[in-house]
Amino acid sequence: MSGLPAVLENAWNSALPVFQNVKNVLVSENSLETPRITRVGQLDSELLDQELTNLLQEPITKALALLNSRFKSSFQPELALFIQLTLYKLSIWNTGASYGAKLQDLRYVVTGSSTGNSTPSGLPRKTLLLHGTLTFLMPYFHNKLRNHALSHAWPDAPSSDSRRKAWVMLNSVESMYSLLGLVNFVAFLWGGRYRTLADRLLCMRLTPSRRSVKRDVSYEFMNRQMVWHAFTEFLLFLLPLISARAVRRRFYKLTTMLSPSLLLSLSPFKGILKPSSGWRQGERPPQKRGKYWALPDDQCAICAENIAFNLNVSDSTNAFTSFTSDPTLNSPEDAPAHPIHNPYQTTCGHIYCYQCIAERMLRIADEADDEEQGWECLRCSEQVKESRRYQVEVTESEGDMSASEYEFSSDLDLSTDLSGSMGTYSESGFSD
Ligand SMILES: [Zn+2]
Ligand SMILES: [Zn+2]
Repeated sequence: MSGLPAVLENAWNSALPVFQNVKNVLVSENSLETPRITRVGQLDSELLDQELTNLLQEPITKALALLNSRFKSSFQPELALFIQLTLYKLSIWNTGASYGAKLQDLRYVVTGSSTGNSTPSGLPRKTLLLHGTLTFLMPYFHNKLRNHALSHAWPDAPSSDSRRKAWVMLNSVESMYSLLGLVNFVAFLWGGRYRTLADRLLCMRLTPSRRSVKRDVSYEFMNRQMVWHAFTEFLLFLLPLISARAVRRRFYKLTTMLSPSLLLSLSPFKGILKPSSGWRQGERPPQKRGKYWALPDDQCAICAENIAFNLNVSDSTNAFTSFTSDPTLNSPEDAPAHPIHNPYQTTCGHIYCYQCIAERMLRIADEADDEEQGWECLRCSEQVKESRRYQVEVTESEGDMSASEYEFSSDLDLSTDLSGSMGTYSESGFSD
């Protein structure tokens, strides 16, 4: 045999006792293993029990208040005691765990229990009777006594009076009980046993009813819940810092950029779809062009844009139909789809409705971060900062009726003019 295996064998032999020791320790720990103590479960079970009592008490008092309105004030403590004792009988007495403890997978165990009379739960009857008395009857009688003492002015009695002495004693007992409760709670947090003083006095421990403690709430769910909670908190912190207006403006700009008519004008098939529109390749555009540069001059581009935003399918002029039917293809005989009401002219020389242009410019003035920014004209995409009323000079020879400011006198002149021309026409007819 070579030297190496011999060395390895020696090492193994020397390590064997150590392994054996570790094994023994593990085995002994397993046999003595105590179930994991969950303090939070014990505290939760107490809260759940209280909640349950309140839950039951509310409808009963409401129902009894219908029979007698004074019932609630006079019999409230008795009713609470009745509910608590009933629950105690049904839960701890019968099954060895309160409803809250059952929800937390806990049950009472009496250490050093004697083999006497036992309740259906298997717990000693004497212990449970004492426990119920300490937990429910004692607080009830204490309350009664205190109320009685207060209503009969025990604290105001002369110091030599026995009632005053009794009151002082009651107070000191109360303080002692509170102090003991505090000490007990600290001990409970330390050792994880005996949640209440009564439990400690009677050695009643809450232990997991199953060997392996399982979580009632899935860890995944808890995790997700925590993430969502953190996210909500963060949003609540963040939202006041975001300007809703700026976001809305950005969104509006984005939707304008993505509107069907613009996409159509950007698409490579533009020439196929609209052979007559646009300039030929190689030619420079005559001027800057806005989104609605091709709209006939007698129509309002803002009205056209507003309607293009309207996604209502029942409307014949919604975004989808406007995609297929280009407004520029309207024949001149048709009435304009978006007539201009109360025309106003921008600095770039384009005409819009007063209401439309005023609304847009007010919005820009409201939302703009800098003073210099103006509204972008939909026809020439120039910055518009002001607009004025559109005025047409009416000349008698043209008789332009579409002017916004024509006078009744011009109407009169027109009629005389027409008759005159008719007269000359008839005259020439006669002469011929
Ligand atoms: Zn308009
Ligand atoms: Zn313009």
